[in-house]
Amino acid sequence: EYKDMSKERMMEIRRQYCNPMTMKVTYYKKPVYIHQGHMQWLWDVDGRRYLDLFAGVATVSVGHCHPKVTEAAEKQLRKLWHTTNIYVYSPLHEYTEKLAATLPDPLKVIYLTNSGSEANDLAMLMARLHTGNFDVITLRGSYHGGSPLTMGLTSNAAYKYPVASGLGCHNTMCPDVFAGPWGGSNCRDSPVQTIRDCSCPQEFLCWNIPLIYFRSSITGSCTANDKYIGQLNEVFATSVASRIAAFFAEPIMGVGGAVQYPKNFLKDTYKLVRERGGVCIADEVQTGFGRTGSHFWGFQGHDVIPDMVTMAKGIANGFPMGAVVTTPEIAASFAKGVHFNTFGGNPVACAIASSVLDTMEEDGTQQISHDVGTYLLTELAKMRDKYEIIGDVRGKGLQIGVEMVKDKASRKPLPPAAMSEIFEDTKDMGVLIGKGGVYGQTFRIKPPMCITRDDADFFLAVFNQALHNYMEDHH
Ligand code: PMP
Repeated sequence: EYKDMSKERMMEIRRQYCNPMTMKVTYYKKPVYIHQGHMQWLWDVDGRRYLDLFAGVATVSVGHCHPKVTEAAEKQLRKLWHTTNIYVYSPLHEYTEKLAATLPDPLKVIYLTNSGSEANDLAMLMARLHTGNFDVITLRGSYHGGSPLTMGLTSNAAYKYPVASGLGCHNTMCPDVFAGPWGGSNCRDSPVQTIRDCSCPQEFLCWNIPLIYFRSSITGSCTANDKYIGQLNEVFATSVASRIAAFFAEPIMGVGGAVQYPKNFLKDTYKLVRERGGVCIADEVQTGFGRTGSHFWGFQGHDVIPDMVTMAKGIANGFPMGAVVTTPEIAASFAKGVHFNTFGGNPVACAIASSVLDTMEEDGTQQISHDVGTYLLTELAKMRDKYEIIGDVRGKGLQIGVEMVKDKASRKPLPPAAMSEIFEDTKDMGVLIGKGGVYGQTFRIKPPMCITRDDADFFLAVFNQALHNYMEDHH
């Protein structure tokens, strides 16, 4: 029988032998000592059960230790643990064929990596080699990795170090229609809208009513979008060479706090980036694999086809793996050198990832994301209307953000101490959620995609109680 170390001993070891940062990121004042997981549930070493709505940062996609995936892993572990892809073995080929089938043409050539940072590193390299250009643009507030190169793509001071990283990396204003200077009401594609008034004279065009005929006769559907695109044009005019290598963006920001862009933002940006010789890269590390509910890939919700898609996290339900998928044309530019990766395409990782895709289909995880996600968003929006400190509720499917504010009028971030009080209280009542946003002001909900409506109700009751407790104590 496996027995956990004592909590005290783990803390002692953590202090002495672990990356000192791990002391800061126990995340809670009273840390959670995890013993075991099953589907949407985690148990701590004292046998307390938690509803896990953070999934190790949107990573446990089909459920902790999902029995079908565990079985596939066990089978492969008994057969072959490792060989590099200089040899030919079945799991890699079974998997790449299956993964390619989920993506539209011409996104068919796959490179397997071991993490999201590694996938974005590789994508950046390929974009530069393919285009012969150097400059890369990302959105302010984004997270794309922590390696020296991807640290340049990431635009959040918390993850930066004062070293020579990010040569040729630039960022443009995040088109955040809640906290940014422009936008509001119906700018974005979400089941719930922000309560911020939109000053856009064409606001009526944003509503989801079938105005297709009418729309097509009018250019530019959203002046907020035009203004954020204007910011991108300023970056083109001031910061980069006339030809650029790439633009990276998540379909819905993850670490940045589930920020959603005005409806045509990615489409318009892709067009401008391509005009300057750049390739468009969708970072689907968090949004991929059905998490947004409406589509299997987040970019499909923006009506664009990227030139490259990077993925990790949910790809293998928590087993270390990542991938870059690109076009045959870009792959050909990259074939000039030898690309080698010892663990990329590991047979166990491939067997797991393959079983994850099957399980997603069998369990209907995308539909669950859509249904439970829409329910959560709708109910959270009601709470937003009730509590002065909830500024915004946004997202799609099970990629949800709840932005907390001092008050609705100022939209200033709720300070870290207050965030942490609500966060800790929610945990003490048995639910794990995440925090994000540049100021740590947004609660993030991105559970394993096996949660039920009952789980959603449990969370809503707990969160409501935590907010109520906070308001009682401070107002
Ligand atoms: N891209 C996004 C959107 C991410 O959220 C993350 C991880 N938080 C990464 C890339 C980097 O992934 P990894 O930690 O696996 O390197």
